[in-house]
Amino acid sequence: MTRATPLSLWDASAVEADYANPMDGDVETDVAIVGGGFTGLSTALHCARKGLGAQVVEAERIGHGGSGRNVGLVNAALWLAPRAVREALGDVYGPRFVGVFGKGPETVFDLIERHQIRCEATRTGTIHAAHGPSGVADLEDRAAEWRRLGEPVDLLDRDDVAARIGTRAFHAGLLDHRAGTINPMGYCRGLARAARGAGAEIATGVRATALRREGGGWRVETKRGSVRARFVVLGTNAYTDALWPGLREVFTPIHYFQVATRPLGPEAAHILPGRQGVWDTGRIMFNVRRDASDRLLVGSMGTVVGSAAKGLSRRWAARQVARLFPELGPVDFEEAWHGRIAMTPDHLPRIYELDKGLFTAIGYNGRGITTGTLFGAVLADLLTGLDRADLPLPITPVSKARGAALNARLYQAAFTANQVWRSL
Ligand SMILES: Cc1cc2nc3c(=O)[nH]c(=O)nc-3n(C[C@H](O)[C@H](O)[C@H](O)COP(=O)(O)OP(=O)(O)OC[C@H]3O[C@@H](n4cnc5c(N)ncnc54)[C@H](O)[C@@H]3O)c2cc1C
Repeated sequence: MTRATPLSLWDASAVEADYANPMDGDVETDVAIVGGGFTGLSTALHCARKGLGAQVVEAERIGHGGSGRNVGLVNAALWLAPRAVREALGDVYGPRFVGVFGKGPETVFDLIERHQIRCEATRTGTIHAAHGPSGVADLEDRAAEWRRLGEPVDLLDRDDVAARIGTRAFHAGLLDHRAGTINPMGYCRGLARAARGAGAEIATGVRATALRREGGGWRVETKRGSVRARFVVLGTNAYTDALWPGLREVFTPIHYFQVATRPLGPEAAHILPGRQGVWDTGRIMFNVRRDASDRLLVGSMGTVVGSAAKGLSRRWAARQVARLFPELGPVDFEEAWHGRIAMTPDHLPRIYELDKGLFTAIGYNGRGITTGTLFGAVLADLLTGLDRADLPLPITPVSKARGAALNARLYQAAFTANQVWRSL
């Protein structure tokens, strides 16, 4: 473990080096990017590749937000079924969005390959597992739809899914061969390395405190100097602060947590032998995966209550491992962490132009590895002349998530109650 208080297991275990660089004095560039997660860094990489000057300012560290804390499931498209996406976005944008985002894992794994990003990448798919009979029907619908679209998915019956995961707890599974897993902090740091290699500048520990229009462009104020740029991209997502009035109100912030065991030995070799990551169909989602050192990770919606060593979340995790894999006996846990997710009312992400030349992509609803990477590329295209009509998602007027603050509190209470109930 490299740090006294790592943000997550991934922060402690990523092989890619962290990059820290303060900013001193004023900077002038083409694109100022706020936020050093997948969105901000992919925007920087793709802008730099297209010959634009790009300066990232990150308030904390690379991957401080969701990007360094997530489960690492590189899933295709959204967790909404393709039909729901088509119904919400219509005949033009619906199929286009499903097509572009269905290829999201390919884009991510191509970048990993091209830049030799060391992030424990596996490309053996992910499994959407049915938590009960209602989940089986949902997966059958999804499988039929993806197959109609020509995508490589397999519907797994109860025996198949038991063999793939190593437990009979799930009723069926949808194996998506496009998908895979990564160490997300490793990927995020690798994106930062790639962006710098392409010519982008990154400053860490530098919070953007104000955005002002100046001439035909913008001035981004920080305590360590300002960035003057033609365009600004906000990649702040669920970690958005008060920088742009009202932006925090376009999503409901919810939490998701993970608890990781110590590395397990050969006694766990039968668990996920193909190393697929698993997420389930439950309303309060549950996930399980292994990392490259054979730790088992389990997680769900909510915050860590206590720590990996003691408290509610540890009890919850021990109960889940015992429920799924009783043959392991008691196991030790060594990391527990949580992060924020930006949920939108219709579970679709947004691209907003908040003011002339000031863009954000936001509201990924817990699907950010592919989404952030793709939106970064799309925003770079937009800033270099892509016709707006050709975007995978329309730029819409800013809309607030009604009752977000109250809903966030209600969800949090429900998630904690769920942890208590499932610890018994
Ligand atoms: C526990 C958890 C599990 C998840 N699991 C998955 C998964 O398995 N697969 C998947 O695809 N997605 C998953 N997600 C979602 C995914 O992590 C996010 O959608 C994604 O990381 C968002 O990336 P981003 O770059 O847009 O924002 P973030 O990574 O959140 O980055 C925003 C950054 O902006 C910075 N910032 C904010 N305000 C300022 C300011 N004023 N000045 C400077 N910097 C600022 C923050 O410090 C932060 O680093 C999960 C999320 C969580 C929390």
